[in-house]
Amino acid sequence: MYSFQEKIDSCIDCKKCWDVCPANTVTEGNRFTPQGKIESLAKVVAGEKLTQDEMDNIYLSTRCGACDDVCPVDIPITDIIQYERELLAKQGREPAKTTAISKNIIERNSPGGMDPSKRFDWVTEDLEISEKSDIAYMAGCWVAHSQPDIARSTIRLLNHADIRPMLLKEEKCCGLFLIDNGHLEEAAEHAKKFVDYIESLGVKKVVVSCPGCYIVLNHEYPNLYRELDFDVEYSLNIFRDMINDGTLKPKKLDYTVSIRDACPVRNLKDVPRDILSSMVEVKELFDDKQVCCGGPAGLKPNFPEISSDIAMLSVKNYKEKADMLVSYCPFCMHHIGGVCKSKDEELNMKDISVLLAENIFGDVKEMKS
Ligand code: SF4
Ligand code: SF4
Repeated sequence: MYSFQEKIDSCIDCKKCWDVCPANTVTEGNRFTPQGKIESLAKVVAGEKLTQDEMDNIYLSTRCGACDDVCPVDIPITDIIQYERELLAKQGREPAKTTAISKNIIERNSPGGMDPSKRFDWVTEDLEISEKSDIAYMAGCWVAHSQPDIARSTIRLLNHADIRPMLLKEEKCCGLFLIDNGHLEEAAEHAKKFVDYIESLGVKKVVVSCPGCYIVLNHEYPNLYRELDFDVEYSLNIFRDMINDGTLKPKKLDYTVSIRDACPVRNLKDVPRDILSSMVEVKELFDDKQVCCGGPAGLKPNFPEISSDIAMLSVKNYKEKADMLVSYCPFCMHHIGGVCKSKDEELNMKDISVLLAENIFGDVKEMKS
């Protein structure tokens, strides 16, 4: 077992993490590098005062993982950032907005503190949903409260394969924000309540639309709580299988798209590409580079301008390369959509499940009963 400090001391100062970090890319003077973030650990552990830049740098991260991916000596940069945030929270030094969002998740069951009674407002009468089934559908906070077309499209596509999932009537926020900000005890308690509830329903599989929910349920909950008694399936995997076995036969479209890759599932990039190439020509957005949307883990509420500048990297690039930006993360949709609206910037962006459902069934907005 290594200590984080030993790993930090193994840094060879190659600066590879500097170049891939979007927070560093959009700010001047290399003040906010991933390397700099982890170099504050000793001071944080000792409870020493941090400069404003050092403090900001720890919270100027979406924990997208791009730095982890390029570090040649495998320093777990995002784990160290999470640990620094955990210590700062325990020392009462985390940003007030981070504390408030964490409280929203625990008390109101969504990061934005949305009205819990509106969580299932996306459900329309045309959707075939079972009262009881082996398969459940989890929309997640950002789909349920901000991008309801994703949920409707997902259920329509599942129905097409004779899958009529039940809903998790006591669906919870997955708690990714708590995990990103080192609130691990609260996240573990949250995971226990949610997993125990899902298992009480006798469900064998939970289908999720959100890459964040997918990673949290599949990979974080077993660490925070215990192995799950049910499988977690990412909706795009099901849609790809449905295209491959001929259940879905998308029509060819005469425009080009760029894909806004979702950080939590950046090791599954072939899945959205397989789906999209069945209907449209794909132009790569950032070649092999993973560039986050700039929203997650508290970057957006704590540093709105930097967060907007990061979002605009995707907008600017897609406009140079393709007719449309396609996303498979509801939070990317929410964040980039909001940034463009605030700037009066034209945006042609669509979620992949919505694009696929529209291709097969027509406009999802017209599917209401
Ligand atoms: S996780 Fe992403 S945003 Fe955070 S330091 Fe690494 S590259 Fe930068
Ligand atoms: S990529 Fe790794 S080794 Fe290179 S500067 Fe960053 S932390 Fe250090």
